[in-house]
Amino acid sequence: MIIAIDGPAAAGKGTLARRLAEALGFDYLDTGLIYRAVGMKAERTGWPPEAAALALTPSDLDGADLRGDEAAQAASKVAAIPEVRAALLEFQRAFAANPPGGKGAVLDGRDIGTVVCPQADLKLFVTASLEKRVERRVKELQQRGLEVIQTEVFAQMKERDERDSQRAVAPLVAANDARVLDTSDLDADQAFALAFELVRT
Ligand code: C5P
Repeated sequence: MIIAIDGPAAAGKGTLARRLAEALGFDYLDTGLIYRAVGMKAERTGWPPEAAALALTPSDLDGADLRGDEAAQAASKVAAIPEVRAALLEFQRAFAANPPGGKGAVLDGRDIGTVVCPQADLKLFVTASLEKRVERRVKELQQRGLEVIQTEVFAQMKERDERDSQRAVAPLVAANDARVLDTSDLDADQAFALAFELVRT
């Protein structure tokens, strides 16, 4: 079984995907992390992003700097390059088809339901208002002890939303057969309960 979870940044996809995977005994793949690793590898090495994608190794996914906004912006820039997306496609598809635990896979990203796994058994498009997503990201960064300027977080998230939604290849869009889950007024437990219900029906 394959569960595809797409949506914009800070809508709650990662938390939801992780919890669903845990509850079902499935393996989880955070595909955003892969794009972040490619973006940072390209910056670090000066290689063309496509070469960084082709040379990606598991240890590149352990970088401590991958969770920050620099990596997020770098990711969304390399993610608009068709050759980068093509280089990462097979790995993601193979993970979905043959998850390490053998039971099932939950993948989250921007194009899982539309491009990577159009045959997924369940597709969720997890979204929330820009204001709510900014609020969450600010809280998350503060909890990590970082100094945060709210207007900067807002501007960066808006820029990334626009770049991800407007790119020519695999833009951020809900698949026709995706169930939309708006988490603007939901906490993580409520979002999980609704999604788990959809898995069971
Ligand atoms: O999900 P996360 O915020 O970590 O993703 C970082 C960036 O990677 C996104 O803004 C997007 O540009 C890109 N991405 C993508 N396709 C995916 C996952 C992430 O284009 N499946």
